[in-house]
Amino acid sequence: MTIQLTEIKRLAHGISLRWADGLSSIIESEKLRVECPCAGCREARGDTSHANPLTAKKSSLRVLKASKVEETQLKNIWAVGNYAVGVEWGDGHSAGIYTYDHLRELSKTATASP
Ligand SMILES: [Zn+2]
Repeated sequence: MTIQLTEIKRLAHGISLRWADGLSSIIESEKLRVECPCAGCREARGDTSHANPLTAKKSSLRVLKASKVEETQLKNIWAVGNYAVGVEWGDGHSAGIYTYDHLRELSKTATASP
């Protein structure tokens, strides 16, 4: 069962989360970015489980990486329905939608806040 997220706050270097079961957690922005669940990032990580023959075609366009500082700068966060959180990064990337389940999973290995 999905545990509901009751509060989320953007911090300078990550997000703080409050859960319906009372747990509080902080996920660092770098970790959050590394775990970006969008198709593009998963492909960059070598995860092709989502591969679709129509979109998996190699493009000749070279997409240059933004600096790490931009990549891990949290610009904006917002609620997506009642199940997920959207994140926009300093480099303009905002395709990743983090479900509560995913955030909870990341929280397990994160440092708990008092
Ligand atoms: Zn992504």
